[in-house]
Amino acid sequence: MKLHEPVSILPGVGLAYVGKLKKLGINTIEDLLLHIPSRHVDFSNKVSIRELVIGEVATITAQVISAQNIYAKSGKVFQVISVSDGDDSIEAIWMRQPWIVKTLTEGTLISLSGKLGFWGKKRALMFPEYEIFSGASVHTGRLVPVYPETEGLTSKWLRRLIAKTLPLVEVDDFITEPSFEFINLKEAILKVHDAQNPEEFERAHRRLSFNELLMLQIEQNLKRLWWRENTKAHPLRPTDDLNDFLTSLPFTLTESQKSAIDEILGDIQQQIPMNRLLSGDVGSGKTVVAAAGIFTSFINAKKSVLMAPTQILAQQHFATISQILEPFKVRTTLATSEGITSDIGSSNVIIGTHALLFRERLVKDAAFLVIDEQHRFGVKQRAKLAELARGEKTPHMLTMTATPIPRTIALTIYGDLELSTLDELPKGRQKISTWVVPPGKRKAAEKWIGEQIKSGAQVFVVCPLIEESDAETMAQVKNVTKEFERLKKVFPRFSLALLHGRMKAREKNKILSDFKAKKYDILVSTPVIEVGIDIPDATIMVIEAAERFGLSSIHQLRGRVGRSDKKSYCLLFTTSKSASVRTRLEAAAKAKSGRELAEIDLKTRGPGELLGIRQSGISELKIAHWDDYELIKKSRDFAEKVVANQEKYKKVLAYYRKKQAAPN
Ligand code: ADP
Ligand code: MG
Repeated sequence: MKLHEPVSILPGVGLAYVGKLKKLGINTIEDLLLHIPSRHVDFSNKVSIRELVIGEVATITAQVISAQNIYAKSGKVFQVISVSDGDDSIEAIWMRQPWIVKTLTEGTLISLSGKLGFWGKKRALMFPEYEIFSGASVHTGRLVPVYPETEGLTSKWLRRLIAKTLPLVEVDDFITEPSFEFINLKEAILKVHDAQNPEEFERAHRRLSFNELLMLQIEQNLKRLWWRENTKAHPLRPTDDLNDFLTSLPFTLTESQKSAIDEILGDIQQQIPMNRLLSGDVGSGKTVVAAAGIFTSFINAKKSVLMAPTQILAQQHFATISQILEPFKVRTTLATSEGITSDIGSSNVIIGTHALLFRERLVKDAAFLVIDEQHRFGVKQRAKLAELARGEKTPHMLTMTATPIPRTIALTIYGDLELSTLDELPKGRQKISTWVVPPGKRKAAEKWIGEQIKSGAQVFVVCPLIEESDAETMAQVKNVTKEFERLKKVFPRFSLALLHGRMKAREKNKILSDFKAKKYDILVSTPVIEVGIDIPDATIMVIEAAERFGLSSIHQLRGRVGRSDKKSYCLLFTTSKSASVRTRLEAAAKAKSGRELAEIDLKTRGPGELLGIRQSGISELKIAHWDDYELIKKSRDFAEKVVANQEKYKKVLAYYRKKQAAPN
């Protein structure tokens, strides 16, 4: 039987079981054999009955002398099986399993694994694992694997099925070169289910992890190769005008901004389209890096497109980019669901929201694409923008994110991208002081805020989303309005404005630009301001019901202040009494960077949420671990060899293709 055949060909696996196995992600024989034990129970200590020791786990092989159900006064039924190994005898005891006496009848040779204890005053094996002796034991007498289960599929059932299947499959390793450092595939598959000791299991697990990672890396490498061979971009060459633009900025670029710009310029002068991810913490200055690319495209008489996840952010990018590029005769257009700001025929830069995805005319023939806060878009939306923009040639693509990318993730799920990182903030930024404020301290905190406003501070107050939903609901609007009314009473002498997602774009823009022009002291808002908003003079961020936010959202919100050289503060209000909430918020208060918070989120909420794995369209790893940098690196190097020498590694590629074609 072959690895890629469906599990339904196995004896005893009918339709009902096929359905249940599918729930565990098991469709083929190979999936079954790659269902890795989550832990082991060590029953490998085999002894004679005489050698049994009270309190120790051991395995004996013996013959059944008698088997009976005993009814206790309490109404409980006990199964008492007396066994002998010719030398000595002992009783094994179970409870409420009357069928056992029918299975383990007199004369049967059985294996028992368990702990020697007392039944009343007598020594006995209490509730041991048992199986009828057949030479090769499955549930007793070895390092017994325990598998992830699902409703109606026990670990024991899986163990039996896997043990029966192992000897029947043909496994032909697809890597045969002598220098290969991992164990043979056949041995790995056998030993991962039937290891003599933990080291043997580890070696088997490592080979199978390598395989899993290798397949992922081959996919990325093939994509990259396809991209190189089948797409062509307009080469965009910088001139002295670019230097003029960069020196016209009101600040000097940080070293990491300079190198990111250099990396982008290096890419876009080629005919191969750029596919680069720019990662940098909130406030690290990603926008001007993108502007440098946009301007270079303009110098080459080519159009650029920038897509942002919210209307407010698109509006802000439009304001910033037109302001810094206008002196160089660059014409910019804003396109949102509410319309287009100017004649697009003469426009060099189109900035917009998702609305761009429905306006091919605007996007077509762009040579340089920017997607800001890329994790806010799905893979499909990102691909669609690129597809729409593609004319005769493919555009260069720059995606940007504030989510920190751990090295291992960069090498795997983002393996087909080049990566640039802004790992420093502009000079002169001060650390944002963050405090967790319990109800008892609210009054004092509000008094302090009042004093800060008197000396010129501007304040954001953010209320949480009430329901999990992408769009803001009316309940949300009511909630934020109520808070707004309350704060007007708390701060009667200051001017307050209200902002929420249900407002018309024009209203939102007016409020934000008035806030920027200091017409308001306090802006009460829903999380619509979370991404990207840049109002450098605002220095206090108040987050209401902070426990409702994920740590990365808190970090994003906090990133709305501390965007100039002024000292900034973030206040996390919470009424929660839960100790774990307090610990989480205190951690958010202490952490300095998005990376630190990402690590905490990674521990408490797992990688799926945090790292954009779900959005990346690649499934979670089943065997390997995300933190195994060394193994990930090895699999990547090997995949490069495979893709570069496809003839030599045709068996690897054949295996890869079969795997791709298999259902999952
Ligand atoms: P983000 O990386 O979060 O998108 P932005 O591009 O919005 O950050 O930049 C944050 C703020 O820092 C903006 O007001 C921008 O003008 C300013 N800025 C960007 N680069 C520098 C720099 N090198 N020095 C000083 N201020 C900068
Ligand atoms: Mg930004």
